[in-house]
Amino acid sequence: MPDHPGLHIEYLDADPRIRALCQRYWRVSQDTGRFLETVATIYRAENMGSGELTALVKLHSRAWSTVMKCSRCGEPMQFATRTDFIGRREGRPFRCAVCKDQEQQQLDTAKRMRIVEAYQQAMATAQPLAALRPRDCLYLLALIKHAGSEDLSHIRPYCQVRHGRLTPMRDVDRDLITQLWRTGVIAVDPESDTAAFELDREQDARVHFNEVRWQPVIQGLSGLALYEHLEAHVLQADFMQRAALELHECCEHLALLECLAFLETALEEYRLGYRAGVKTCAMITRALQCYTVAQVCNLLHRAARDAAAYYQRGGVSRDHAAKTVVGSFERLMEKALANDWEIAPFKRNFNVPQSALSRLIYNRMLGTDDGGFSQRNEVLLGHLASIS
Ligand SMILES: [Zn+2]
Repeated sequence: MPDHPGLHIEYLDADPRIRALCQRYWRVSQDTGRFLETVATIYRAENMGSGELTALVKLHSRAWSTVMKCSRCGEPMQFATRTDFIGRREGRPFRCAVCKDQEQQQLDTAKRMRIVEAYQQAMATAQPLAALRPRDCLYLLALIKHAGSEDLSHIRPYCQVRHGRLTPMRDVDRDLITQLWRTGVIAVDPESDTAAFELDREQDARVHFNEVRWQPVIQGLSGLALYEHLEAHVLQADFMQRAALELHECCEHLALLECLAFLETALEEYRLGYRAGVKTCAMITRALQCYTVAQVCNLLHRAARDAAAYYQRGGVSRDHAAKTVVGSFERLMEKALANDWEIAPFKRNFNVPQSALSRLIYNRMLGTDDGGFSQRNEVLLGHLASIS
């Protein structure tokens, strides 16, 4: 009995019963060119399960294509089962598993070389710690605290850090890491998984931002020594003085982010999605001039609750209801200011824990317990200015 046209079958077992079974599996009709029997017919006739039949065929026979050959080494394409054979694409170039593996290894080597080059270039222009902008010092230290590996040999890929936050909002985490990368304060770690970057047509590496490991790029310092020097550096009174303006900006930004993260979470709890724009940010910033983050969260909570109630009364979309938050918040704030209300501070939402950057600045540097949440920046930083 001839094999299927386009197939060469090799039977590996001398046992006549198994050999006959494999032949039956691969046998084709000379008239139609199709398989003579369905797989179901065979396994039922042989009184076995379909999985058992497939396993036997895979183990005791090899089916090779007489048409399709590896375009690199000429090895014929091999099929384990009929499904493989039926699923073949004769028009397309094909690479055997060995060649694919070799090509992947070559590609990985080329990718790794590009990343090593980029890392070496970054290290060649590394600045000493003292030359770093204060903002970059704060960001880098917060990033190491948030994502540093246990042995401090590298900064873990962002997607692998599941607990805690770098800043109150994920989008801002990305901006912060990107900024450190663009300014050459960190570089992609050459030890990153090769799947974390690709080579484009110009052979430049394209990085999967969330998946690469990072290395701090500081002249003469790495690992534990860098961590210790960096922490000592930002705690010096001299640093706090030089960094006063940037520290102030950073604190104001953090306060705004705390409020936005709180609002996002509050609305999520009511299943209302909302992306804060310029207007919302401006309103919150205005409120933060008079109130603490904890107090603003109280107003935001009420505005979110009002939006949810508005939606539940019916007749409006979730999106429309969510957009009423800004207006409600503004009215509440105006009333509170006009009537000189005492607004009760909210407690931190369990789902928005204090971020690594906030802990660094408020707890470590300013010596408060989550002061950015419960106290106004003006008061905290004013206090600092009076000490220095
Ligand atoms: Zn090949």
